[in-house]
Amino acid sequence: MTRRRKDYYEILGVPRDASLEDIKRAYRKLVKEWHPDRHPENREEAERRFKEIQEAYEVLSDPQKRAMYDRFGYVGEQPVYQEAQEHGTPFEDIFREFEDFFNRDIFEVFFGETPRERRERFAPRRGEDVEYFVEVDLSTLLKGAEITIEYDRYETCPRCRGSGVEPGSGYVDCPVCGGTGRIREERRSFFGYFVSERPCTRCEGTGRIPKEFCRECGGSGRVKRKVRRTIKLPPYVEDGARVRFSGEGNAGFYGGPYGDLIVVVRLRPDPRFKKSGRDLIYDLTIDYLQALLGTTVEVPLPEGDTTLLKIPAGTQPETIFKLKGKGLPDEHGRRGDLLVNVHVEIPKDLTREEKAILEELARKRGIKIS
Ligand SMILES: [Zn+2]
Ligand SMILES: [Zn+2]
Repeated sequence: MTRRRKDYYEILGVPRDASLEDIKRAYRKLVKEWHPDRHPENREEAERRFKEIQEAYEVLSDPQKRAMYDRFGYVGEQPVYQEAQEHGTPFEDIFREFEDFFNRDIFEVFFGETPRERRERFAPRRGEDVEYFVEVDLSTLLKGAEITIEYDRYETCPRCRGSGVEPGSGYVDCPVCGGTGRIREERRSFFGYFVSERPCTRCEGTGRIPKEFCRECGGSGRVKRKVRRTIKLPPYVEDGARVRFSGEGNAGFYGGPYGDLIVVVRLRPDPRFKKSGRDLIYDLTIDYLQALLGTTVEVPLPEGDTTLLKIPAGTQPETIFKLKGKGLPDEHGRRGDLLVNVHVEIPKDLTREEKAILEELARKRGIKIS
């Protein structure tokens, strides 16, 4: 028996470490060059080359297939043994040879799965995670408020307890696979003949089907339910965070555990604050007289309430007052600071009287004004 091992790199004329770009470029050039319509005098040869180029490209342009090809010399789902079959070699021998050659389990070679994965395929499977988007205010988050959400999820069918079988009906052999749980397929493509085996979709590989499907869930073992949950998000989550609530997702298959609920947090920005890491910046504008004489102002806190901040007399523009521990918490509960950035507003619309007072003041302080 001869096993043709094609060198896809050679076919595309690229080095083994070629980038995806190189591969695409080589492919585009070669398919044009070897298009059968351009070789009417030698159409058969052109067709062969054309298919070869397609095949090589299909494998090398797919990172997973390429990795497999680099490792084993061919791609698992499409082993080429056309010639072997034409020469009448029984399949079993080819299997054996593949097995010997790679010293691997034939299923791993052909189906890209390890024996362990194969054993586990029909074992209980965990349910899917369910994603839920929630939009919260910073203050709600920091106060640790509870949020009530409502979403759809699959729960284990209470009538059949997840088996999909109508209580009392029992099982019969699957008519599609004859009770083996597997479907064997032979198909022909331009790569050659392929024999593949896949789990039977009718019985999901179990080889048996319920004599009567559960009337509640129709045989799926799961029913869709609207559920309400009250959740509390950790105060340190950031916009876009994904918070996992274990076991609150969809029911599992074949008695597998529930998946998780993943709450994707959209944190509504608070326009009053700018963020700088865990610190918050609050821009405060005061009148020049307040800066000169001092005052007390109310500063909003991210939780929603306010605090009083004393502005001493003679505060300079752009002074930053630090309110320690009033910023955002991290996951250890440490909080950043709230930085109050003071801007001083100089009035542009003095009355005649105000102007007179200020000119008098300037004269007294010996400040030249005109
Ligand atoms: Zn079946
Ligand atoms: Zn049911």
